[in-house]
Amino acid sequence: MKRTPCAPDSQRSSTPPETAGTSTRRGFLKQGAVAAALGFLASCDAATREAFFQKHFRELKGPERKKVLERLEREYSREYGKPVTVADTPAAEGVLFGYALDLSRCIGCRRCVYACVKENNQSRDPQVHWITVLELEKEKGIDLAEADAYYDAKQVPREGHFYLPVACQQCRRPQCVSVCPVGATWQEPDGIVVVDQNWCIGCRCCVAACPYGARRFNWAAPSIPKGEMNPDTHYLGNRPRMKGVVEKCTFCIQRVRKGRYPACVEVCPVGARKFGNLLDPSSEVRYIIENKRIFLLKEDLNTQPKFFYFYGV
Ligand code: SF4
Ligand code: SF4
Repeated sequence: MKRTPCAPDSQRSSTPPETAGTSTRRGFLKQGAVAAALGFLASCDAATREAFFQKHFRELKGPERKKVLERLEREYSREYGKPVTVADTPAAEGVLFGYALDLSRCIGCRRCVYACVKENNQSRDPQVHWITVLELEKEKGIDLAEADAYYDAKQVPREGHFYLPVACQQCRRPQCVSVCPVGATWQEPDGIVVVDQNWCIGCRCCVAACPYGARRFNWAAPSIPKGEMNPDTHYLGNRPRMKGVVEKCTFCIQRVRKGRYPACVEVCPVGARKFGNLLDPSSEVRYIIENKRIFLLKEDLNTQPKFFYFYGV
């Protein structure tokens, strides 16, 4: 079936088949850019050529995948002057991650924003933030048109205001996935929506499709100070990104798949952030969903976020 870039494909599930990425990306490239790409590749070194011809992450298996991870580890270690690991820890069976945020506790301090930047190797210059904290007036309630993302965080919480942190909502029906023309973004079995940056062609269809403004495009080469670079990375998460690709929150995939909390949960000084397995009836997130007044952002769009807001009181 022929696909038009940015057009949602109603016949594609949010988890495309293993081979979808390869055929569609090659087909997409065939549509116009092959000559330019060949010219560019002729002038590249062996490592760049190897990266260009790399398979889709889900097609890479066994020794082939190991070779790719080792190449990336070598490249990052050389660039940042320390040993960097790139894991491919898979989703565990019986796990569907979910997040809950207590609006009655959040004070808008933005510590989560900066902990996320550090943990996930986001660019410092230009600044890239995966979390945006919005300041809203209590009197007006959740009126996103009136929200202020640029409030002065030294004076929080401000009288008469409350705070709404927003990042990727890890939708069960992710619009971003269905518009990607090359299958570079998909939903993992544990519910985390990921991007293979080596497969992303930077068309930004997903950026336009996300109703939460959760995706970031690297207009410039990201810059991370060598001393602050987090060397504990995952292929689908916080490994350093490149110019011209899209990135976003992955619930700290490199942490949560090893049984740790996301960095934002750990750093929050008022315990507003909760995280766990939605399939586990004894988890804290399940308790919150079953016992608190919860709501979803833009619920009417039927994106079915796995990010729940609630009032803890
Ligand atoms: S919030 Fe946006 S980026 Fe995240 S899964 Fe939903 S549509 Fe995709
Ligand atoms: S920018 Fe990348 S991930 Fe987003 S739709 Fe285009 S190819 Fe897919």
